[in-house]
Amino acid sequence: MTRTEPAGALAVLEVNLGAICANYRALCARHVGPVAAVLKADAYGLGAAQVAPALFAVGCRHFFVALLDEALTLRPLVPGAMLAVLNGMVPGTEDIYFNEAIDPVLGSLAELQRWGGRGPAILHVDTGMARLGLDREELQRLAADPGLLFGLTPRYVMTHLVAAEDPADRANAEQRGRFAAVRSMLPLWPTSFANSSGIFLGPDFASDLARPGAALYGLNPTPGQPNPMQTAVRLTARVLQVRDLSVGESVGYNATWCAARPSRIAAIGVGYADGWARALSSRGHAIFDGTRVPLVGRVSMDISTFDATDLPGLVAGSWLELIGPSHPPDAVALEAGTNGYEILTSLGRRYARIYR
Ligand SMILES: *Cc1c(COP(=O)(O)O)cnc(C)c1O
Repeated sequence: MTRTEPAGALAVLEVNLGAICANYRALCARHVGPVAAVLKADAYGLGAAQVAPALFAVGCRHFFVALLDEALTLRPLVPGAMLAVLNGMVPGTEDIYFNEAIDPVLGSLAELQRWGGRGPAILHVDTGMARLGLDREELQRLAADPGLLFGLTPRYVMTHLVAAEDPADRANAEQRGRFAAVRSMLPLWPTSFANSSGIFLGPDFASDLARPGAALYGLNPTPGQPNPMQTAVRLTARVLQVRDLSVGESVGYNATWCAARPSRIAAIGVGYADGWARALSSRGHAIFDGTRVPLVGRVSMDISTFDATDLPGLVAGSWLELIGPSHPPDAVALEAGTNGYEILTSLGRRYARIYR
């Protein structure tokens, strides 16, 4: 392995900031309008404090997080840039938003009235997600009484796509139609529409500000097609011990896997407490020297076991790649029965982290 591990580390998470910046540039080249970066959940688990300045340095000037706390942490790291909070403005926090120059994303007429004319705001309209945003009835009230927007400084009017990763899903065209109606009702408001996958739905889904998250971090915005993004993480773990099993002997809790042949079992110090999902039990795999190594038995809290029988070169002190370019987060997600977003945002806090 061509790197020096931090002394004593059982597992190392390498975050490739260069890949994230390259992904940002690639998304800018794809989208007709400007492109923001979504940094919620600690930049999808990769470290917002490192990712934000890196993207700022390559010209990104619009950032989204989910929570006010996340925005307060990032505010000094992206000076002068737009920093907006997607999950709405909790009553009583209005002055914090104003004083810290953080943009609220207003998702109801009540929030809109609470914000009043304090400063710029993003207006969130619901075109099908049915989570947050002005609903149909509130939009009708707004259409009937445009004075409700009096004093508000338009930053963007935004909506969020339900199924952008599936170009064949009818919801895409329906939401585009509903958003077009909102646009004509609010002609002075710049618009924000596409998430990562939405950018790949083409120019019909362009707006004044795309809001990708996943694709920045290397998840495939076009599932079923080759991934146009670069993988941004590599997770490797040290083999702690290797032992021999006779036919019929079992591995791990509840003996869910038994050796059908004389076997060599390798244990690493990564488990479900590190976000290495328990659902990977006897389903996941790692990579050693370009070869797949099957995960066998239950994933424990801090330990996982692999069948190294066919890899005599795999010994105590070897390093296995759990996630990386040859085993990307989307592939791990498939084995764990979830999506790449959950794999990344679950990445544990116990890894030694290296930023490149
Ligand atoms: C998370 C989120 C995004 C980013 O979505 P990706 O699929 O990760 O690109 C954009 N907009 C809103 C409202 C979100 O919640």
